[in-house]
Amino acid sequence: MRVIDGSQGEGGGQVLRTSLALSALTGEPMCLERIRAGRAKPGLMRQHLTAVDAVARLCGARVEGAQVGATSLEFVPGPLAGGTFTFAIGTAGSTTLVAQTVLPALLWAPQASVVAFEGGTHNPLAPPFDHFAGAFLPCLRRLGAVVEAELERPGFVPAGGGRFTLRVQPLAGASLARLELMERGAPERLDGEVLFSKLPFEVARRELEVLRAELPFGHAVRYRQVVDSPGPGNMVVLRAAHAHVTEVFSAVGERGVRAEDVALQAARAWQAWNALEVPVGEHLADQLLLPLALGAGGTFRTGPPTLHTRTQAALLEAWLPVRVDLQPEGAGDVWRVEVARR
Ligand code: ATP
Repeated sequence: MRVIDGSQGEGGGQVLRTSLALSALTGEPMCLERIRAGRAKPGLMRQHLTAVDAVARLCGARVEGAQVGATSLEFVPGPLAGGTFTFAIGTAGSTTLVAQTVLPALLWAPQASVVAFEGGTHNPLAPPFDHFAGAFLPCLRRLGAVVEAELERPGFVPAGGGRFTLRVQPLAGASLARLELMERGAPERLDGEVLFSKLPFEVARRELEVLRAELPFGHAVRYRQVVDSPGPGNMVVLRAAHAHVTEVFSAVGERGVRAEDVALQAARAWQAWNALEVPVGEHLADQLLLPLALGAGGTFRTGPPTLHTRTQAALLEAWLPVRVDLQPEGAGDVWRVEVARR
């Protein structure tokens, strides 16, 4: 049984999620210890437990020790099977992180799947649905995956209540193709959207004003008042479509943070990526490593690797016969990431 130290690197939920996906795919049983030891409240939270249960359902795993607060668990996977499922977190925990955890199992399962996820869809410190569907999934499709996501309603922290559906066709013996993403290509569109639920329009108006001032000539901004989410929430989303890639940047509205600062945070994230002229942003970078390592590998340009990226790289090298190379290109902040078979 493989023993995984959950405190390694970032020491957060990502070590758990990636290990679950890899255990299900390789068929190798694992014992996870010191789960999320690097976090203020270590152990499994609702969204992590949902990820454990979800992967376990897809591979008929025998799981021991998985409960809220647990800092270790055993996971013994069985054969993969797709189908129709609903994975409800029960809190506002991030649904996209649960979706990313089960996606490899869904792709390598022999059957097609339709999976609904319920919880938070526009969370802080996790991919908002717009990033998952607008930046991550298009990269997967480029590798040959047939996968679609449809948002039914957004869910914000703390009320949750969001829902989206993922449709996945099995790879059916094929592999994921190699990714070559060195250039972003010419800019095609830059769209900004202010999402708000059960908050005064004034919040959106102030955010739109900042976006208009911060974004270059030719951008488009709009607002979307969400009427079917159970709680209040606000997010600013920027979508930058280039010839070879679409990246998505966001900031979550929070009590005590001025609307102007929320919009500015999203604008700054886009500006930093734009100035670097790389195709892959910091979040997409750590998220692409798993599909590349499971498929035919690949290479991309990004900014300086985050601790999430380094943690993911080390974990993949430990589980799979792959090498993940993170190299700066010259003296600047541009890095080249390469995932290859060892
Ligand atoms: P914890 O560490 O508390 O367990 P967690 O389970 O939410 O938290 P992390 O290990 O912190 O998980 O991983 C968060 C993931 O969310 C990373 O893949 C990161 O790239 C991604 N992410 C965070 N913020 C954004 C964002 N604004 N846009 C896209 N992805 C994001």
